[in-house]
Amino acid sequence: MTAAAHDQLQKRLKLLQDRFIERAQSDVETLGHFARQIEQQQLSRQDLVECYQLLHRMAGSAGTFGLPELGAAARSIENQLRTVVEAKARHAEWQDAPVALPADIAMQIHELTALVQKGTDETKPESTHAHPRLHQAENAYEGSHGMKVQVMALAHNTGYLSNLMADLQGYGFACELILLQESEAAIKSLNKRSGATILLCQDSDLADVLGFRSDHIEKNEHRRFPVVGIGRQNTFESLYHVAEQGATAYFSEPLDMPALAERIESLALERGSRPQGRVLIVDDDKELGERYCLVLNNAGMKTKLVSDPTKMMSALSAFEPDIVLMDVQLRAHSGVTLARMIRYEPRWLGLPIVYLSSEDNPETQLDALAKGADEFLVKPVTDEYLIRSVRIRCYRARQLSDLMNRDSLTGLLKHSLIKQEVERELARCRRSGHLSCVVMLDLDHFKKVNDTWGHGQGDIVIRTLAHLLRNRLRESDTIGRYGGEEFLVVLSDCPTEQAKELIDDIRARFSELVFTSGDDSFQVTMSAGIAAINDFPLASEAIEAADQALYERKQAGRNGVSVYQRQDENQDD
Ligand code: GH3
Ligand code: MG
Ligand code: MG
Repeated sequence: MTAAAHDQLQKRLKLLQDRFIERAQSDVETLGHFARQIEQQQLSRQDLVECYQLLHRMAGSAGTFGLPELGAAARSIENQLRTVVEAKARHAEWQDAPVALPADIAMQIHELTALVQKGTDETKPESTHAHPRLHQAENAYEGSHGMKVQVMALAHNTGYLSNLMADLQGYGFACELILLQESEAAIKSLNKRSGATILLCQDSDLADVLGFRSDHIEKNEHRRFPVVGIGRQNTFESLYHVAEQGATAYFSEPLDMPALAERIESLALERGSRPQGRVLIVDDDKELGERYCLVLNNAGMKTKLVSDPTKMMSALSAFEPDIVLMDVQLRAHSGVTLARMIRYEPRWLGLPIVYLSSEDNPETQLDALAKGADEFLVKPVTDEYLIRSVRIRCYRARQLSDLMNRDSLTGLLKHSLIKQEVERELARCRRSGHLSCVVMLDLDHFKKVNDTWGHGQGDIVIRTLAHLLRNRLRESDTIGRYGGEEFLVVLSDCPTEQAKELIDDIRARFSELVFTSGDDSFQVTMSAGIAAINDFPLASEAIEAADQALYERKQAGRNGVSVYQRQDENQDD
């Protein structure tokens, strides 16, 4: 995160903090009014419930906003009131009579005012300690440009690695080779970068590169880049030594390029150059909800806050979160009931719901779990804890859904899902008016590749094209394995001319890749057909059109890209 972005975040957190304090001041005033009624034995049942809810909300949020003593005091009063509130709920006949409460409770409520004042004073100084300091996101999400993977090779001399870097560039990575003697330049170039960076070096330079990483990069960048070693080690002892030094991955010569490319890509994915999760937050406490959003955004996750539960179902379909963070007690609604409602839709049966609640009563928790939620996070949660636990839950949720939705050879969306994506894109185009394309890609003479080099080599070719597509396309584009050696791609917000240019560039890069089999090497080409999604009333027709354009390309000579032309348009593409 840049210094400016950090300042910006601190400013927004401060703003939320100010709003919270204002609200807390008005809340303690209201509570003071209830306390006086308690003293005069005039507290109505309605007032009791309101008083209880106010305390509950305060107990949940004060800690997060840097007023832990206020939070703890509110929690303690809330717990004392709980038994009375529950008894009241059971005995309807008591409803009209004022509630008798010990005067001690009124005292405790009055004391909250002083705690708000004390907390306000403590958080006031301009110091950064006003908020529990946010850790710098290892990799803030850069927006919707796709996964940028940078490979930075470090060496004492460049000879050997420069060929390797040229090969890796062919796989769609941004590559740079830097002399260890010129590490100043390396640091400068790192400062300009975004996306995930992977370091690469020969095993003879490993110790120096790891030293460079800890002395220079980690200090300046506050992130730790994986180091991939390359060399000739293959005995247990020598590999153990490499691992001991701290290399994240190691490849022995002769290098298996597709495997190396694949490993670099998965290391980059783990580092989260992609957004690390989509989180829907349902909380009626706006300041607190916004704060959670800010904190999670800053850690690279996408968030949406719903503070009006009646909007929850539509927000779910529009946002499609990986997980839901659900407040247990919203003003007129119960989070437990909302969770049950979510499960009414088959589509959300597997969606993880995590309760974010100020409920530290294990029995209430158990009850809630039984009714449809998966886990509990007890308020107040610290920023660090929130980030860590949400991130791991998103990760697991994604792993699970990937297992169900993705093809195991390529990691791309399965046939039925990519078709659905075309449908969704068509709907999005209708709503927002942007132009999108669907692309059908197919490997040329692939049967011959299998026949000549074996099915295993054929699989490597398929995987390699999948990698190239993932690396070259944007995050907002979707890629699926449509059939054996056929791929379907949805290019969102991309007119046909641009799509043709992009796919042709990928085609050219792919045709240059060299696959090796023993001492032999071979190359493979691909063809593609493109159709404008907007031109068709149905997604299936757009797919058919792309398929037809592909067929025409195959007829006219492979290794190329064609755009579907409607019958009434008599031009060439
Ligand atoms: P064209 O240029 O016209 O597309 O010719 P082609 O040989 O690529 O087309 P065809 O559809 O006749 O053959 C596709 C081949 O792809 C046949 C099938 O064995 C192979 N194939 C399909 N799925 C896989 C797979 O998962 N792995 C491997 N290795 N081969 C596959
Ligand atoms: Mg083919
Ligand atoms: Mg085919």
